[in-house]
Amino acid sequence: MTTDTAPLAAGEPDVKVLARKYAEERDKRYAARAEHQYLSLREIRDAEFAQDPFVDYEHARANETEIHDGEFRQCVIIGAGHNGLLFAVRLIEAGISVDNILLIDNASGYGGVWYWNRYPGLMCDVESYIYLPLLEETGFVPKHRYSYGEEIRTNTESIAKKYNLKALFTTTATRMDWDDDRVEWTTQVTRDLGQEGKVDIKIRSQFLFIAAGPLTVPKMPDVPGMDEYLEAGKHIFHSARWDFELTGGTQQNPEMTKLRDKKVAIVGTGATGVQVIPEVAKYAEKLYVCQRTPSYVGTRGQKETDPDDWKRVARGKGWQAARADNFNLLISNDPEPENLVGDGWTETGANAAFQGGKGKYPIVTPEVVADHVAYFMEMDVEQANNKRALIDKVVANKTVAEQLKPWYAGWCKRPIFNDDYLPTFTRPNVQLVDLDGKSIEKFTSKGIVANGIEYDVDIIVLATGFELLPNASASTRANAPIRGRNGRLLDDKWNSYEYDTLHGCMSHDFPNLFFQGVFGQATSSNLTRLYSFQAEHCAFVVQKALSSAPKGEMAIVETPIAAEEEWGQETSKRALFFSTLPLCTPGYFTGDAQVRTPGTPEEIAFMAKRIPWPGGVTDYGRILGRWRDAGEWKTVVSAKSVAQTNGVDKLTSAVLAENL
Ligand SMILES: Cc1cc2nc3c(=O)[nH]c(=O)nc-3n(C[C@H](O)[C@H](O)[C@H](O)COP(=O)(O)OP(=O)(O)OC[C@H]3O[C@@H](n4cnc5c(N)ncnc54)[C@H](O)[C@@H]3O)c2cc1C
Repeated sequence: MTTDTAPLAAGEPDVKVLARKYAEERDKRYAARAEHQYLSLREIRDAEFAQDPFVDYEHARANETEIHDGEFRQCVIIGAGHNGLLFAVRLIEAGISVDNILLIDNASGYGGVWYWNRYPGLMCDVESYIYLPLLEETGFVPKHRYSYGEEIRTNTESIAKKYNLKALFTTTATRMDWDDDRVEWTTQVTRDLGQEGKVDIKIRSQFLFIAAGPLTVPKMPDVPGMDEYLEAGKHIFHSARWDFELTGGTQQNPEMTKLRDKKVAIVGTGATGVQVIPEVAKYAEKLYVCQRTPSYVGTRGQKETDPDDWKRVARGKGWQAARADNFNLLISNDPEPENLVGDGWTETGANAAFQGGKGKYPIVTPEVVADHVAYFMEMDVEQANNKRALIDKVVANKTVAEQLKPWYAGWCKRPIFNDDYLPTFTRPNVQLVDLDGKSIEKFTSKGIVANGIEYDVDIIVLATGFELLPNASASTRANAPIRGRNGRLLDDKWNSYEYDTLHGCMSHDFPNLFFQGVFGQATSSNLTRLYSFQAEHCAFVVQKALSSAPKGEMAIVETPIAAEEEWGQETSKRALFFSTLPLCTPGYFTGDAQVRTPGTPEEIAFMAKRIPWPGGVTDYGRILGRWRDAGEWKTVVSAKSVAQTNGVDKLTSAVLAENL
């Protein structure tokens, strides 16, 4: 039995002692945080390493539709990643003509994050059978249980082909405005046509969908010395802009032979770092791994999809949704009779502490917070101790093994499963540079300074993640102002006490606008299931609106204020479920310091409604279903006779006639 003051040994399952250690490690990191913050690549858009290294104008032009300034489409979707694709497919299923749906993306192809991220070792960390969208509809069989990045990207291209989707690529939406008289949105875009330059056009639509993604904007440490480093002829790039020219290899064949005589530093040991470090270690002459906070790394068990296994997996109508729900319920601490996925994720329900689900109390009140947190701590201890013990088993060097051990509750950061990561630290060419919670200090003409030591490197890879933009509106995510009724800015509503949404995807004063945002909605370690719920839901609402509008009138969908206030109240009533987060080490899950910032009662109430649904994603999906079944959608639907429909082209009129 340990005591409060006893030293901590690996494998020790004493929650009280662990909690003390976790708090110490957290506080150390919060103290270090004040010194160095991140720089978003959005702020340094023109820097060479913020550019798109994969841009292929030929591919973009060959795979996109033709559209002229001022043309109309019934539905415009900003973003052609998984979320945009799901919106498009569910709209088609709801009866919208594919010719009247337009996807817009600043990349030169489909895929979103899977377009931008091509680093060696990239794979989804959730089983591909539930992560890749629309497998049931397309009949696609992933090659591996956890798909590699290229397969996920090419699968998005195949989905677009199958549904004959129409898109504009290398096109950035720069602002969106609602016109009450015409009942339509105008999206202003800048089209990058490569050598032909840039052109600005406007696209009108009845409905607008924002699928700009939660992890699209790379970030890097805001430390001095970058110019000095670059002037010395050295190289640096972000993992989401992988420079194969420099490393050698391609996404298909990542043989990084050009690294054989190079000293490389990788900064960051989160989800990306853990995947890419083993790959670079195979080639680099020397690899320095700069670690601020270690990740929990569990066993992966990657394997090829066996045809017999696949028959068992893809069985019966609705198998993919059922499998994804089974996974989500288990990781939300909501027991299921069978564990269909059965991987490391589903070993514990403790991740519910971050993504919502079932706890000990139906509603957490201030009186039971301590017990609620202790309940999840108890649940988490086994996996945490096992993963720390695994490090001791694999990494013989005691100092390195200790430095690789994470000391925070498992739900505080995305858990990672990778069989190659820990053995990498037994290679002679790999050196762990443990920063003990601090940032790297600066770049110099020689390389990088960390812990006061200068490391001579040729290439720095920033595996430093993305801006999660906690609480960001769809407008902030898309980096484009969205103006609703009377020119009201979505960001103004979002960042004021008037903030409210209905189910996190619609908001009063922003008619016919649908968006994705996690906050006010739900979250899941498998975002595809969340997106499926939302796409199905929004397409249903659009379809009901169109079919309810009297002939010749334009359908309008807008949430009544009372409905969104009620949703906000229901959410905030349950907010203390997430009282598990302030004990976390800082990271993007916890909006860095945000969850710990004390505030006035108004500020706390404001924060409390801008959270993911505390009941978890499956519960959120059920709520949406009940809302639709109860006919409540009728409350958000109206129609308007529009005198001036001369701008609506023939195509639209035909589609409207078909739908009304
Ligand atoms: C490396 C990595 C691995 C991941 N692994 C998993 C996993 O295993 N499981 C999981 O659930 N999630 C994972 N995720 C999270 C991932 O973000 C989601 O699963 C999902 O792919 C996001 O899809 P999306 O369509 O919402 O956004 P994105 O894929 O980000 O797509 C949004 C697109 O919109 C574009 N865009 C944004 N603003 C504009 C604008 N103004 N004009 C034009 N285009 C714009 C962006 O450039 C981007 O191409 C991972 C993320 C990363 C980065």
